[in-house]
Amino acid sequence: MKNKFVFDLDGVMRDLHKYIEKKFDSKITHWQWTNGNGEDVCDIINKDLDILLKAEPTEYLPTILKYYPKPEIWTDQPDHWIYGTLEWINYNVGTDCKVRILDTGKKRERLDSHKDLILIEDSPNFDDYERIVLIDKCHNRDVNASVRVYNEKELENELKQAQY
Ligand SMILES: [Mg+2]
Repeated sequence: MKNKFVFDLDGVMRDLHKYIEKKFDSKITHWQWTNGNGEDVCDIINKDLDILLKAEPTEYLPTILKYYPKPEIWTDQPDHWIYGTLEWINYNVGTDCKVRILDTGKKRERLDSHKDLILIEDSPNFDDYERIVLIDKCHNRDVNASVRVYNEKELENELKQAQY
């Protein structure tokens, strides 16, 4: 059975954190980060939905597109973010990739029922990291994932090999 990779969006393809870090001159070091006003990443985006459109691609996106020109994207987005998020995807990834709106639990369920799939993720919130390749971020250092990649080259090696 040939494995197929699927991809989380935020932190893997789109860099919302970098945009917010620049805006507030602060490093987002953990999942519960807030700015000086006690607002977290979601609060900040809710006040300025343009961030969804203006955020830059991550350094990983070119490598992903090299191997998967039409990547399947699994992303958890509140309803009112979906419009801006799809616009970002159309512009930065392409207009005809499959996008599934799935929260962490639904992603895990889908991985468990589709054994050929491997998910590229940065979330620290999974109970089980089987067939998940974790992109290293300061907000997921506590997670015990068996496959962790630290840079584009290491991601490329995973995409090339896919021996799981
Ligand atoms: Mg993410």
